[in-house]
Amino acid sequence: MTALSKRYKQWSKTVKRAERLTVVGYNRVMQKPTVYGTRVDPQTRCAHYSSELDIIAIKMACCQQFYACRECHDEVARHEAMVWPMTKRTELVVLCGVCAHQLTINEYLLCESRCPQCGSGFNPGCSKHAHLYFEVTP
Ligand SMILES: [Zn+2]
Ligand SMILES: [Zn+2]
Ligand SMILES: [Zn+2]
Repeated sequence: MTALSKRYKQWSKTVKRAERLTVVGYNRVMQKPTVYGTRVDPQTRCAHYSSELDIIAIKMACCQQFYACRECHDEVARHEAMVWPMTKRTELVVLCGVCAHQLTINEYLLCESRCPQCGSGFNPGCSKHAHLYFEVTP
């Protein structure tokens, strides 16, 4: 074995390990968190919002848990809901129920009702309820 091929072998080992680590990290991010609520389906529709497009869940500021909607939170959680303040606009709080991609508040407000990861359409009506989840400018 030449020195060069030895080096190459070592290098490809390192790359493979890095790839493996990346894949593990990727899976962790993509793992769907538990979404709470009333009659939540696998794509996070619920008893209150169950159209084709009602596929987002939102992490509530008060308990840091994902709920299918604000009504779900108010039915299930035994505490007052809190909205995310302006200073938390870069928190990952919106979950796409189709691909499990998480969006920050800013990303959600700019995504034009479409998941930036899988392209699934979100209910454009949801953004009218943004004030139930995020602090918004009047
Ligand atoms: Zn809560
Ligand atoms: Zn609900
Ligand atoms: Zn998606």
